[in-house]
Amino acid sequence: MPDPRGDIRHNAPLGPLTSIKVGGMADALAACTSFDAVTGALAWAREHGAPVAVVGKGSNLIVDDAGFRGMVIRLTGRLASISVRGDRTLWCGGGASLPRAVQRAAAAGLAGLEFGASIPGTVGGAVAMNAGAYSSDLSHVLDWAVVCDANGRQRVGRDDLAMGYRTTSVAGDQVVAAAGFALEPGDPGRIRARLDDLRAHRRATQPQGVRTFGSVFTNPPGDSAGRLIEAAGLKGHAVGGARISPVHANFIEARSGASAGDIIALMDIARRRVRDAGGPVLHAEVRYMHPEWGIGAPPLAEIA
Ligand SMILES: Cc1cc2nc3c(=O)[nH]c(=O)nc-3n(C[C@H](O)[C@H](O)[C@H](O)COP(=O)(O)OP(=O)(O)OC[C@H]3O[C@@H](n4cnc5c(N)ncnc54)[C@H](O)[C@@H]3O)c2cc1C
Repeated sequence: MPDPRGDIRHNAPLGPLTSIKVGGMADALAACTSFDAVTGALAWAREHGAPVAVVGKGSNLIVDDAGFRGMVIRLTGRLASISVRGDRTLWCGGGASLPRAVQRAAAAGLAGLEFGASIPGTVGGAVAMNAGAYSSDLSHVLDWAVVCDANGRQRVGRDDLAMGYRTTSVAGDQVVAAAGFALEPGDPGRIRARLDDLRAHRRATQPQGVRTFGSVFTNPPGDSAGRLIEAAGLKGHAVGGARISPVHANFIEARSGASAGDIIALMDIARRRVRDAGGPVLHAEVRYMHPEWGIGAPPLAEIA
């Protein structure tokens, strides 16, 4: 009989499920293809007192070197599909790739999601993080989301998610299993041209062909974390296999032998040096998977 929680694997390596590719193993990994499988997995975890962690493309995530003593949930199959519904709604499973959703919208002549073309996450992860770029973010185009927890699922409107700068009210034991975007009809040629421009801008300004997890820190009001870290003289600074990108100082690159510990140590140095130079205390944008608790803020040193 199929497991109601979806397809379960035990002792699953998590590094390969992230863009930075560090970290240990999860006790269990559930690949869920339906809303019922998601709620089933969450209910099972609650019943057994097992911590849960939801992982999309792992493109803004550091997994601890000791891995995770709980159940990781991922969305696949129908929950990673994309379709155009009606004249201007893009339906996406929470596990769908955001860049693929952008392509699908462009092919259908629907505009508004182009800023997401180079954000290499899933739709669910992007909703949970309120991902954004170029002065836009998902709160501008999200219409509704299906959010699952251990009690079932609920369709909520954008205004129910308290979407702010890289924050939402989506909790660690909730799963954004599907989302609907309200887009505007647009000229497909113009949409494609804008996508080409945005991708070219990325290639020119951010590290390419290396393992990263996007922005390390959020930008403090009126400034940029990259500018502050660069001004502190840290471009290219390394700890073990992790180094601050010589291309953009708000990126950390993982090289051979890099560990989660190296990355956290480098983040501590960056925060300390920016503060010592009279700058603000930087806050992590990247999420961190703790071995016992699940996903939250990285364990950085206290700074006054
Ligand atoms: C090269 C590069 C460039 C990037 N550029 C940008 C950028 O311009 N703008 C930007 O905002 N981000 C950027 N990022 C970061 C990242 O792509 C986004 O934060 C993305 O939204 C994360 O999605 P994910 O599926 O990879 O989430 P993950 O990294 O897997 O998880 C991140 C968080 O989202 C939660 N989560 C994941 N899926 C779900 C779900 N279905 N339901 C509920 N919670 C979920 C996780 O629990 C975790 O807390 C970049 C990353 C890289 C590597």
